[in-house]
Amino acid sequence: MLLIDCPHCGPRNEVEFHYGGEAHVPYPEDPASLSDREWAHYLFYRANTKGVLAERWQHAAGCRKWFNALRDTRTYRFERTYPMGAPRPAPPEEPPLPADAADPDLFAAAATTEGRTDGSLADDSAADALPGNEDHHA
Ligand SMILES: [Zn+2]
Repeated sequence: MLLIDCPHCGPRNEVEFHYGGEAHVPYPEDPASLSDREWAHYLFYRANTKGVLAERWQHAAGCRKWFNALRDTRTYRFERTYPMGAPRPAPPEEPPLPADAADPDLFAAAATTEGRTDGSLADDSAADALPGNEDHHA
């Protein structure tokens, strides 16, 4: 069971809540002056974040009040909730990579020809290393 911390009622079961979309999307000051493209952008374009996203939620089966939440879209974990009208809190620090995670510098070095002294593979690319791409120079 997932508990969501309603800022007004405290932790409650997730079945009591309804999702309300991305938070902090301001309503246009003069919607009549917008082009169709700008209006469509306001209505439909969202960040689609992979990570911590500010969202609107309603405690529909409780106090029925709306509030905002920071939720990690990768893990579904609610980082924190806060009342409507409050500024978005800073996102939590990203946890450090585990000690056994690959060193990102290794990938950077492998994708270039730096460090090669004989120049034998100077014109290859990362695409050459992929299966099925061996013959693309033929
Ligand atoms: Zn509530």
